[in-house]
Amino acid sequence: MGVAPPCDPAIDPMAGRGGLDRIQGDPKRDGAMIQRLIGCGVVVVSLAILAMPSPAKAADPATVMQQAMMGLGPLPGATMLQPLNGEQWQEVVAGHAWQMPELSEWPIGKDGRPIVETRQADKMVHTVRAWESLARLRSLYRSSTARLQRLNPDLDLTSLEEGDEVVVWRRDEEAISQSSGKPQAGRLIDGEPMPDSSYYTLQYPHRTFGTYYTVSEVVRVLDAYYDQFRAAAPLVIGDISSRRGGSLAPHRSHQAGRDIDISLPRKDVPPDYDGIHRVWPRNLDVERTLWVMTSFIDGGHVKYIFVDWNHQRRLWQLAKEQGAPQEWLEAVFEYPRRGSAGIIRHSPGHVGHFHVRFYCQSTDDWCR
Ligand SMILES: [Zn+2]
Repeated sequence: MGVAPPCDPAIDPMAGRGGLDRIQGDPKRDGAMIQRLIGCGVVVVSLAILAMPSPAKAADPATVMQQAMMGLGPLPGATMLQPLNGEQWQEVVAGHAWQMPELSEWPIGKDGRPIVETRQADKMVHTVRAWESLARLRSLYRSSTARLQRLNPDLDLTSLEEGDEVVVWRRDEEAISQSSGKPQAGRLIDGEPMPDSSYYTLQYPHRTFGTYYTVSEVVRVLDAYYDQFRAAAPLVIGDISSRRGGSLAPHRSHQAGRDIDISLPRKDVPPDYDGIHRVWPRNLDVERTLWVMTSFIDGGHVKYIFVDWNHQRRLWQLAKEQGAPQEWLEAVFEYPRRGSAGIIRHSPGHVGHFHVRFYCQSTDDWCR
C-alpha cells in the first residue's frame, strides 16, 4: 500500500525547492522516482547543484523560474513564461477523451484504511523567526503548549530563539483524517499539511491542512501538471484549512479541509510567487488552466471548481473549439447560462485563483 515513503520529508519552507533542473531524462518515466527523491531529503544535494552557476542551464526557463522563486535571481521577463503553442496543445488535448465527469469511490485497503499513493508529509517543522513566540505558534497551529511539548520533548518552549526548529505536526499512522460538518461550518479532524515541493509554493503552510483525499488529489494533479509542462511557472497554493479546521478569515468556507485555493496559470509574469495575484482574462493561460481543471475533475472527487465568469467563458470556448461534446460542456460548465448546473462555476473574487471543493468520502462520518 503506497503510503508515506520510508524517509522523513520535513516541511522546511526551503526544502525541496530547486529540483526541476534535475529532470534530465524522460519526465514520464522518471517522474515517480523524482517524486520519491524529492520527498526523501535529496533536496540538500539539489540545492547545492542549483547554487552552482551553470551556463548550459542558464537558459532553461524552469531553472530560471525556480531560482526566481528562491530569491536567487530576478524574475524572468514575460517571454520566459512559455505559453503552449498550438501544436503542443493539440498533442495534449488529443490525449484527453473528454470523459464525462463521474464520481468515484476513494480506494480503501483490506485493513479499512484509505489507499494514498502520492507523496505525503511525515512531519511539519516551523523555523522560529526573531519576533515569534510560543503563543504565536499555538495560534498558527491551533495547538496547546502540552501538545507542542509532546512533539518536541527536548526543546525548552518557554525560551524559543530565532532559528529554533519546532515540530508542529507529525503523522499519526493510526489516525485517518476526517472532514466534519459543512465547508462553511465545519472542522477538520487529524488533517495533514500539503507536502513541500520544488514545483509549487505554499503561501501560508500553516493554512494548508486538509483531509488525505484533498492533499493527495492536489499533489497528484500538480505533480502531473509539472510532468506535463516542464517549463510552467510555479503555481501558488493558497488556503486549505487550519490544522483543526473551523473559521479561517477571510473565507466563509475552508473550514472542513476540503476546499483549496490555487493560483491560475498565467501568461504574464506576476509580481512574485509568494502570493496570489489578479489575472486579467487576456493573461490567463487558458490551455494549462483547462488542463489542470479537467485533471482535477477526472479524478472523480471534485464537487465544484469556483472561478470568475470571464475566465470560465474562455475555458468553455477553448474546450468547445477543441471538440468537447455538448454533453461534456453542460456537465462541466455553468457557462453560458448563469445559475445552471456544472462543476466549474462562477464565484465572485476568483480572478487570480480557482477554488476546488472536494466531495466527502466514505471515511468521513459527519461530513455534509
Ligand atoms: Zn477559496
